[in-house]
Amino acid sequence: MNIPADIESILVHMCCAPCATAPIERLLQDGYKIGLFFSNSNIYPFEEYKKRLNASEKLSGLMGVYLEEDEYEHEKWLEHIRGLESEPEKGIRCSKCFAYSLKRTAQMAEKLGYSHFTTTLTLGPHKVSSMIFAEGENYSNYIPFDFKKKDGYKRSLEMSNEMDIFRQNYCGCEFSMRDSEARKK
Ligand code: SF4
Repeated sequence: MNIPADIESILVHMCCAPCATAPIERLLQDGYKIGLFFSNSNIYPFEEYKKRLNASEKLSGLMGVYLEEDEYEHEKWLEHIRGLESEPEKGIRCSKCFAYSLKRTAQMAEKLGYSHFTTTLTLGPHKVSSMIFAEGENYSNYIPFDFKKKDGYKRSLEMSNEMDIFRQNYCGCEFSMRDSEARKK
């Protein structure tokens, strides 16, 4: 694949290890120089955050890609989405959540000297890619990869199983945990 000349390197925001598997494989196969950024202050509780971070560190080691970790600032994230706690998944709370992560990634890309950035958030079947792209468009160096394409999600399941990577059962915040529990009843 021909990589556009202005794309020197990409900082890849990873929402979790399973969702990063297939995107990392695809980007490396296409010849991109990438680094990973674990920035997920949306995750609750902290024990769950640590589990997902540990899985991400394992994946980084197995795939040989540098991983940068952001600070965990859940209170700050809660302040960012205040008033939207009752919104359903795929609603405006999620748009604001994407905006939060993309802003952190844009800032870190600049700090670490990556020319561009993207996110693995588009891989998830419960995530609407157009909502993520709409937030990414605020940055000239965001690349709108839609990792659902080319059977990305199916490939992520295969890779996670092969590498024995921890898979969570709710999106991340306490409100998605609440909704996930309600669906089970
Ligand atoms: S459901 Fe997921 S995407 Fe939506 S606000 Fe919660 S953590 Fe963020």
